[in-house]
Formats: sequence, C-alpha cells, structure tokens
Amino acid sequence: MRDYRVITEEDSLNYKFVILVLLVLACVALSVYFSYYRSEARVYTHVFYLPLILAGVWYMKKAVYVALFLGITHILTAVLFVHLPIELLLEAMVRVGMFIAVAYAIGLVRERFVRAQDNLQAAEEFYRVIFEYALTALCVIERGGGISLVNREFESLSGYKREELQGKKWLDFVAVEDRKKVMEYFKERQKYLAPACCAFKFRSRDGTIKYVNACFERIPATKRCIASLLDITALKEKEKELRETCEKLAELDKMKRDFLNVAYHEMRSPLAPIVGYASLLERLISDERGRRYIVNIERCAKELEKMINRMLELARIDGNKVELTFCEFNIRDVVHEVIKSFEPEAGDKKLQLCSDVPDIMIQADRPKVIAIFSNLISNAIKYTPEGGRIEVMVEDRGKDICACVSDTGIGIPKEHLTKIFERFYMVDTSLTRKSGSLGLGLSIVKEYVKLHGGVVWATSEVGKGSKFYFTLPKEQKGR
Ligand code: ADP
Repeated sequence: MRDYRVITEEDSLNYKFVILVLLVLACVALSVYFSYYRSEARVYTHVFYLPLILAGVWYMKKAVYVALFLGITHILTAVLFVHLPIELLLEAMVRVGMFIAVAYAIGLVRERFVRAQDNLQAAEEFYRVIFEYALTALCVIERGGGISLVNREFESLSGYKREELQGKKWLDFVAVEDRKKVMEYFKERQKYLAPACCAFKFRSRDGTIKYVNACFERIPATKRCIASLLDITALKEKEKELRETCEKLAELDKMKRDFLNVAYHEMRSPLAPIVGYASLLERLISDERGRRYIVNIERCAKELEKMINRMLELARIDGNKVELTFCEFNIRDVVHEVIKSFEPEAGDKKLQLCSDVPDIMIQADRPKVIAIFSNLISNAIKYTPEGGRIEVMVEDRGKDICACVSDTGIGIPKEHLTKIFERFYMVDTSLTRKSGSLGLGLSIVKEYVKLHGGVVWATSEVGKGSKFYFTLPKEQKGR
C-alpha cells in the first residue's frame, strides 16, 4: 500500500529552512573557494540571488538578514583571501548593497501580496458567513436556470442538502399550477431588466406546498442572478382565516340587516292604526282629561314611528337600496319651504329663524335635500334655548354649494364633534335626555350628503352655538 504523507505547514517550513541554509552554505563555500583558490572576489556572486529570492518569497522582509549574511561573507572572504585594493572593495560593497536591496524588494512585494491575499480571504469569509447565515433562503441561479449555490435557510425550505441540488433548476421548485404565471411574470420583467418579486407556491422535497415571496436580482457583470425567498405560509394561512372570518361576518351582517328590515316593518305596521284611532278618538271624546291622554298617545306613537322610519332608512342605505332621483331645483325655494314648516316650532321657543340664500339651481334629490335641512334645523331648534337665533346660509362656490345651519345653542364639546355623525351617538346632556332622541338624525344627514358626493362637518363652541356645514355638487355628472 502506498503511504500518502500529509505535509503540514510546519513540515514545509522546516523543509524550506533546510533548503535555504544549504543554499546559503553553498554560496559561502563558493565565495571561499573562488577567493581562496582563484583569488577572485566576483565570480559567481550572481548565484547569491537564488537564496535571496527564495528567502524573500518564503520569509519576506527577513530575507534582508540572509542578504546581510551573504554580503558580509562575500566582503570578508574578499578582504581575507584576495586583499582587494580599495576601489575593488568599494565595488564589492556596492554589490552587497544590491543583495540587500533585491532581498528587501522581493520581501516587500511578497509581503504585500500575502496581505492582499489574506484580506481577500477574510472578505470572502465575511460574505460567505452573511450569505450562509442570512435568515431568508438565498440561492444563486445560473443563466440556464440551474441552482449553483444555496444557504442553510434554502436547505431547510427545500428539504434538500446542497450536494443534492446539483443539476436542479429553480423552476422545479415552483408548484406546477403556478409555473405558467411565474414564467410570464419573469419574461415581462426581463424586458425591462427590472428586479422581479412575486409570490408563488413552493414545492419542497417531501411534496409539501409552502407559500414564498421571491425576489430575483441580477448579479452585476455576470449572467447569474440571486434569489431571496421568504416563507409566507403562516401569513397566507392567517390571510385565509381572515378572509373566511370576513365572509362569515358579511353573511351575519346581511342576516342582521334582513332581520332588522323585517322587524322595523313589523313594528311600524301597528303604529298607523294606533295614530289613526287616536286622532279619531280625540274628536269623539269630550272629556278634557281623556282628550289629553289621547293626544299623548298620538304624539308618542308618531315619535315612535319617526324613530322606526329613521332606522328603516339607515338599513335601506346599508343595503344599497336607496337610490337618488335627481331633478333640477332652486335651493332657495327648498330652504324657504323647510323654514316655513319649522316656524311654529321655532315660534313656540321664541327663536329667530332666518336665512340668507341666493338663487342657485342645483341637480339633486329634492326630498333628500329637504330631509338634510330638516334634520339640521330640527336639531338647532332642539338644542337652542329660548330667545336664540338660527340661521341658514348657502354659498355658491362654482362647482358646488356650501350650506351652513348655525345656532346660538348649547354647543358641542370638542371631543364629541367628530363622533356625532356616528349612529346612535348622542352627547349626554339634559336636553338630549329630555328630547327622547336616538342619535340617528345626523347619520342620515351624513349618508344623504355622501350619496350626493358631498361632505359634512361641524364646528362648535360650548355655550355659544354650533355650525353644521355640508356641500353638494351643483351638477350630477355621469349619473
Ligand atoms: P337625534 O336625532 O337623536 O337628535 P342626531 O344624530 O341628530 O340625533 O344628533 C346627535 C347628537 O348631536 C345629539 O344627541 C346632540 O347631542 C348633538 N347635536 C346635534 N345637533 C346639535 C346642535 N345643533 N347643537 C348641539 N348639539 C347638537
């Protein structure tokens, strides 16, 4: 059996040292021989360069010591055996200087080379560690699509050891049903030489399907690219769960809306006869106390009917069952009509109800615009103490109008201002409690304005009054 001996670095160092010593000794012997027997101090000194070069390559700048040793030997033998005249001695010294310079230069070059090599190796190691221990799966893809280099994460994602990935193409990992889509996407991106990122199903070794988000980037000045793959399976599962929950919620919401619709209708049906019989009885009963009771019954039934109607209207808006019927009208007429209907109520509270509205023709759903103004003016009357002032103003802004209903009422605290347009939201005041309101009027105003393509907002100062603004486009293009 052949004996293969592994040469360690230490062995090779000893080996080099022995060769160098032998060469140096040979040079010394040559020097002695030629000086002593031939009385010449110059012959064969170029042979000295051999140990100098080797010392420079193997021991770098330490080669200078070898050069010094050989130089001193050379001069000593020349002086001892040849008895050189001074000018030849000077020449020998120059030669020795050359030895030292050559040894130093070779040592220096070699040292720089070794340092550069070490730096390169360190940098290589540094980037290898980054690549290897990155927390995303990375792989280098050659021009034909073959995988040439992968990291630990890629091994654990794919289930393959890196040696087993020889000859595998990256497309082999894309689930069959996604391949066409992925190929088309990459072709498109390649046209613009843009980096590509896409999500697809990743097939691992045991056939498990994982979802990954993969980004491919060309490595500059090569025909390769690097791909980073992020396992998003858990995210996808969460997304699926969320979607299912949303679907269930939407279904429940629809069931709730359907139920409420039926319930509101059923609740409203007996109210009509109650109101009807109450007003009939009012006329039939002569007793004063009895008449008062009947009037109360009628008022409460009408309030209940109003509340149910509002809930029904909001349910219809939610179910997209409310459609606008546009017609052209003068906003001034509408404001005057609404103000006129509220004059008795305002008069009861000694409120000043006025308006400043120019003639503006707009295209809108007239009954809905009337409802918007009615709700706002009714609130203003409700929340303004006796002797106050309510004003309705409309401004022509070109493409739309901006209306404002202002009052000198109790005002709304700042923290409630953005919430009052939410359903069933009420600012808890004694007036609100007394009014028996439900917090739906402003929600309807907001929905109606939104349906027209406008916006609504409010400003207020507690104790000084409130201003409710809304906009309405003057024309309904494309409707
Ligand atoms: P409701 O129809 O029950 O009055 P709204 O939705 O119209 O309910 O109003 C919501 C809440 O906003 C009310 O409870 C009231 O506190 C407040 N609010 C509305 N308009 C005014 C106003 N002009 N001045 C003061 N507070 C108001």
